[in-house]
Amino acid sequence: MSRKIVIAGNWKMNMTPSEGAAFIDELKMSVQGKNKCEVVVCVPDIDIAAISAALKGSDIKLGAQNAHWELKGAFTGETSVLGLKELGVEYVIIGHSERRQFFGEINRSVNQRLKTILESGLKAIVCVGELLNERELGITGEIVSLQTKIALKDISAEQMKNVIIAYEPVWAIGTGRTATADEAERVNGMIRYIISELYTPDTAENTTIQYGGSMNAANAAELLSKPNVDGGLIGGASLKVADFTAIIDAAQ
Ligand code: PEP
Repeated sequence: MSRKIVIAGNWKMNMTPSEGAAFIDELKMSVQGKNKCEVVVCVPDIDIAAISAALKGSDIKLGAQNAHWELKGAFTGETSVLGLKELGVEYVIIGHSERRQFFGEINRSVNQRLKTILESGLKAIVCVGELLNERELGITGEIVSLQTKIALKDISAEQMKNVIIAYEPVWAIGTGRTATADEAERVNGMIRYIISELYTPDTAENTTIQYGGSMNAANAAELLSKPNVDGGLIGGASLKVADFTAIIDAAQ
């Protein structure tokens, strides 16, 4: 098995360029030598140039929080993968529940974005996860399966090498409620099974599947101890160097 453990921070719409650069200076010292997992910071578009400069000489990877499916054109307010690449971005989050909830993201547009991101040579973190009422209806499996299958439509096994799936139950994001380690393991295992059906068991074994949703310094070790939880996508706890480092430590 050669899948990577990836700890990715999602800063959302927090931190100005100067605040972000100061944070990175601290984080670089704090994570020095902790290289058993990949560390990514997914920052607001307006911070990307500053954070790219601040990350020079470090192993921490730079990520964006969205990208348009067209390379250029009349799409006011949108961001092209061409610009992201030029600024040193390696990862792009897509399908985050906040994009789905507030900005009209649907499964089909997640698939369109994914194709463009992969064709441009970037890596994607594809978010899937059920709403609270879907969990209560007992249809988590159906929802996550649908989201995963549509997101991966026409994506080749070769391209899957640059795809991470993040299972993020929406009721756990920013709420302080987290899935139990067993729940995360069960859904992540199901996603791996879907990938093995869509591709091969080998592709599934090599795909990084993260958990996200109120992961923090206190619960990270238990969540990350599960065999199908290959890292985390972290919002709130990625905004404090000590908390984010503690999660990285747990992943070591
Ligand atoms: C996220 O935004 O992807 C997330 C998981 O947020 P939080 O860790 O704050 O729940």
